[in-house]
Amino acid sequence: MSNHSIMVEDTPKNLEAETAVIGAGVVGNSIAFHLAERGQDVLVVDKNYPLSGTSGSTQAWVWVHTKTPASYSELSMLSAMLYPGLKRRIGDVEYLRTGGLSPIFDSVDLERAKRLQESHGKRGIEIRILNSDEVRHMEPNLSRKVIGATFSPIDGNVNPLRLVDAYRRAALRHGARYSLYNPVTDIKEGNEAFTILTQKSTIRAKHIVLAAGIWSEHIGKMLNVNIPVRPVRGQILVTEPVQPLLKYTMSGMRQTQNGEMLIGYSKEEAGFDRRTTLKVIQQTVQMAMQYVPKLRNVKLVRSFSGLRVMPKDELPILGDVPGHPGLYIAAMHSGYTLSPLVGTVMTDLIVDGEPSIPIDEYRIGRFW
Ligand SMILES: Cc1cc2nc3c(=O)[nH]c(=O)nc-3n(C[C@H](O)[C@H](O)[C@H](O)COP(=O)(O)OP(=O)(O)OC[C@H]3O[C@@H](n4cnc5c(N)ncnc54)[C@H](O)[C@@H]3O)c2cc1C
Repeated sequence: MSNHSIMVEDTPKNLEAETAVIGAGVVGNSIAFHLAERGQDVLVVDKNYPLSGTSGSTQAWVWVHTKTPASYSELSMLSAMLYPGLKRRIGDVEYLRTGGLSPIFDSVDLERAKRLQESHGKRGIEIRILNSDEVRHMEPNLSRKVIGATFSPIDGNVNPLRLVDAYRRAALRHGARYSLYNPVTDIKEGNEAFTILTQKSTIRAKHIVLAAGIWSEHIGKMLNVNIPVRPVRGQILVTEPVQPLLKYTMSGMRQTQNGEMLIGYSKEEAGFDRRTTLKVIQQTVQMAMQYVPKLRNVKLVRSFSGLRVMPKDELPILGDVPGHPGLYIAAMHSGYTLSPLVGTVMTDLIVDGEPSIPIDEYRIGRFW
């Protein structure tokens, strides 16, 4: 841990910052980095440590082409386009733009694919519909049950652990401070500044960015702000490293650079319960073998689960909070895909007073 970072032991009783970011996941770290890069005085507060929340139990596809509505897919594309430029600013995060495949199994999938191609094409998102020979040529190990696929060159993936660490290190280099293992217990709103009460200290900040993931609703209540976000569990399987089986990032499955397969499709309403279950592991195995029959001979080495940050309408919540000057929120699923853009847009909003792209459809006011 760098000297700039405030650790539990030495957290001063009273702290001040221009902007306090609550939550040190991928979203909070990206915003902290982008703000600090613009010379802002930033303090990140987390009840635990940077990868303790959803950001530490994820798949980290940088995924664009099957998202709906098309405007959300476009937002994801704009973010994916920022990834190559990040390398220069925060270092290598093992971002790979592999291209993404989403298999088609029947005529219903095919019709959906045609609609997707049309709606997304209008937004400049390139989607090709491949027939079974073309898919097999690209991914010879896919099942014969796959009759086609949609393909987009914009999809890819990133190493989630490296990305969060790189954002944090870059934020620290630009002068950001971190107060970890320090839960926020209450927030008071004043005329000129907020007072954030934490287990270790009292923090005065002109701006607050709520980047608390599945805990956003809880933190929102401290400020009488209704933030409709719930956890949705996903269980992921990891195999032993094997010979190359897949080249492209697929919806639900990909092979990492060291040969492990990462597989996960489940979406469960399980509250804050992060356990894995035998039932879902078995269902996931069945599904995986439907896609890639050769997985039958591959050993599973572990499984883990994570809690997706799911806003009520499943679209990101981004921007300032009406009626609460200085308060901002960033809560979303797909935080890995979106983090470069979210960091940029939130920083523009806080520093310049307006976002660099329109975010009206993502503002929290849509729920009220
Ligand atoms: C199974 C699964 C697969 C996924 N796959 C993908 C994918 O392929 N691509 C993609 O882009 N996204 C994916 N996601 C989504 C992505 O992981 C999340 O959108 C992202 O991690 C959310 O980051 P966050 O920073 O908002 O939340 P978090 O990482 O949860 O960070 C929130 C932080 O807030 C802190 N906090 C909470 N309450 C307090 C408090 N009172 N005081 C101080 N700190 C507090 C927590 O400790 C935590 O560190 C997936 C998620 C899951 C679960």
